Amino acid sequence: MSGPLLKVENLTKHYSLRGRFLEKSVPMVRAVEDVSFSVDAGETLCIVGESGCGKSTLARLLVQIVKPTRGRIVLAGTDMTAVDANALRILRRSMQMVFQDPYSSLNPRLTAERIITEPVENFQRLSGQQRRTLAADLLRKVGMSPEMMSRPPSEFSGGQRQRLGIARALALEPSLIIADEAVSALDVSVQAQILNLLADLQQQTKIALVFISHDLRVVEYIGHRVAVMYLGRIVELAKCESLFARPGHPYTEALIAAVPVPDPTRVRVEVVVEGEVPSPITPPSGCAFHPRCPLAAERCRIEVPALVTMADGRAVACHVRAPLGPADRAASNVPFPASTYG
Ligand code: SF4
Repeated sequence: MSGPLLKVENLTKHYSLRGRFLEKSVPMVRAVEDVSFSVDAGETLCIVGESGCGKSTLARLLVQIVKPTRGRIVLAGTDMTAVDANALRILRRSMQMVFQDPYSSLNPRLTAERIITEPVENFQRLSGQQRRTLAADLLRKVGMSPEMMSRPPSEFSGGQRQRLGIARALALEPSLIIADEAVSALDVSVQAQILNLLADLQQQTKIALVFISHDLRVVEYIGHRVAVMYLGRIVELAKCESLFARPGHPYTEALIAAVPVPDPTRVRVEVVVEGEVPSPITPPSGCAFHPRCPLAAERCRIEVPALVTMADGRAVACHVRAPLGPADRAASNVPFPASTYG
């Protein structure tokens, strides 16, 4: 296959809220707005942002649990938004999801064997022997003993349950896994084990990962590239090393500066982003970050900045840090990548 495994183009999701009786205009929640990115086989793209930025809605759109308002999701050359239900069901075999909560995402009435083989049994009948062989293989893949297959989820720890969630996602041999806050409910030491497991599986199978998280330490550990979301839009998309070494968007810079540094010899400029994330029902005009941005200018209040690809390959949506044309660049008095806050 040539080209990226997954290509997302202008993906948008608006929810209409029910208006009051006889109210003419129905309020809209702009959960995801004009999001585009691609993911290669064997790559991990992390999607990061504060709570309410639209990253979990994006995950649900990718697996088509919710339908987009507009935009395309092309998986291995096929547009998932344009196929019928039967074709979508078959396409979904290649794209599996690992959920945040390892406690509620597993059926408490089923054994581990049944839980992890269920996705295959949705497509074909398995004999008891076939099911046990498949379950044993999947358990070994995620570092668990096949002897555990007859236990219910209540007899496993949080980390083991998340391993079961990963085993279930692997059952159909997908080319892409969407992991939505897959380690955020786990202790830090268990988080590291699960992240290492995902990285090892990726090395063995060239599986692609879309890893959604609010935790930048996790993202820095596992990501190849990172997309930073703010109020439904991607505001920066860059390789992991460049993003953490030299954030381009003022919001990315503030997020990274807020992460505690365990090394006492490294000093990080303390940054406080004033205010809350605005409501997606009434987003600010122009750049949605302008009420909280120390660089905000008049233009930022009027015009939505486009996601502009910079010379080093990263894309940034900011009138000041990534001005569009040469005239804009000349007019800018903050040369990229000068620190916004330092
Ligand atoms: Fe700040 Fe303006 Fe850039 Fe938005 S476009 S991040 S308000 S400088």
